[in-house]
Amino acid sequence: MKLLTKAPRGTQDILPKDSYKWQFIENLVLEAAGMFGFREIRVPTFEHTELFQRSVGDTTDVVQKEMFTFEDRGGRSLSLRPEGTAGTVRSVLETGIINDALPLKLCYILSCFRNERPQAGRFKEFHQFGIEMFGSALPSADAEVISVAYEIFDTLGIKNLELQINSIGCPECRKKYQEALKQYFYENIDQLCDTCKERLEKNPMRILDCKVESCKEITKNAPKVLDYICEDCAEHFQQVQQSLTAMGIPFTVNPNIVRGLDYYSRTVFEFVSNDLGAQSTVCGGGRYDTLVETMGGKPTPALGFGMGLERLLMVLEAQGIEIPEPNTCDLFIATIGQAAQLKATQLVYLLRKEGFYAETDTVGRSLKAQMKYADKIGAKLSCVLGDDEIQSCSAKVKDMEDGSVQQVEFKDLPNVVYEKQLKDLSDQIGDEDISF
Ligand code: ATP
Ligand code: MG
Repeated sequence: MKLLTKAPRGTQDILPKDSYKWQFIENLVLEAAGMFGFREIRVPTFEHTELFQRSVGDTTDVVQKEMFTFEDRGGRSLSLRPEGTAGTVRSVLETGIINDALPLKLCYILSCFRNERPQAGRFKEFHQFGIEMFGSALPSADAEVISVAYEIFDTLGIKNLELQINSIGCPECRKKYQEALKQYFYENIDQLCDTCKERLEKNPMRILDCKVESCKEITKNAPKVLDYICEDCAEHFQQVQQSLTAMGIPFTVNPNIVRGLDYYSRTVFEFVSNDLGAQSTVCGGGRYDTLVETMGGKPTPALGFGMGLERLLMVLEAQGIEIPEPNTCDLFIATIGQAAQLKATQLVYLLRKEGFYAETDTVGRSLKAQMKYADKIGAKLSCVLGDDEIQSCSAKVKDMEDGSVQQVEFKDLPNVVYEKQLKDLSDQIGDEDISF
């Protein structure tokens, strides 16, 4: 029985006291993305396991250790998506929208699943807002993608979020770098964990991302990728920096960022916060110029990022940035007797159709309990319907804030509710001392 009332570890319920914050953030990020020309795509929650093995990479932590994989009845291996890029690339190829006018600019909000040890800012089910841009090789595209994330953080008023960028070069420069890494790590092989010993031959760059302490230690003095990138990649990286500077977006170059997924090339970046403890990266992304081709498409440069929404909300919370609360009840109609209840049912429906948030009793409470409830939900206006009110088609409407009362005909209820909304709004503006 206990299992029935216990959610699996690493998952969370988002309750009404918080869901309005999610709605606000989701609207804000989609709106920001829209302003930059990114349109929403929705992809399945699970894909063929092979898709993630081939794109994210089968030597990465995400694929090796963190995926939720299961078989369908036909014995095919499926996995819950650990991220959004693989499914998006699969979709643009399968549906052919990648053949439309380029650049193709997409965004999404999705749940992701990674079988990681739950801790602050790390869950087994979490949510990402992400964008992907296909067909743009120019450095200005890198700056554009970064600017979407920057704009979102800036709009929300988040402070102390550091943008760190790096270039991990193209596959050509990476070959040289991987050789240098291999040599370095072979010299220090005793200090590597077993997984990294295996990675050494297949994908030594993954060792740089390992979270095991001894590996992290030995990684500190490993060769740096920036010393190995070719002239073209170096020039590209220079121009990304120029574009960011031109846009007034501050950044630092961090040669240690390699990102945990295999598909990246050239520019990689992270937005890092001091307010998150160990799980400090709110947003990570970069270029993946070879992925589309790897997955069977025409060679198409591409790039994007994923932003962890739980972590974003944690930063807002830590910095005391408040999200506007949703509207509270405009009018509560309390009732005495069945006839009044019927009338109230009709009136609240009519008010709701006009766009007002009206409530009446649906529990069968006493009048006193109804008024207590109206108070609890923060109703701005209230009235009581009994036989007299039904007779006169009017009721005394009470302003719950200042206690003032006015006699209102039923047909005028929408006007009175609207006037109250306007008054509240002008009070608010007065509070903020806005001058025109
Ligand atoms: P980390 O180094 O924290 O594990 P990552 O490099 O694995 O992050 P990405 O694959 O780049 O993360 O995912 C993009 C973003 O998604 C991260 O920057 C983070 O904000 C968020 N994220 C990743 N894994 C989790 C998780 N298990 N729980 C909550 N958010 C996550
Ligand atoms: Mg991770």
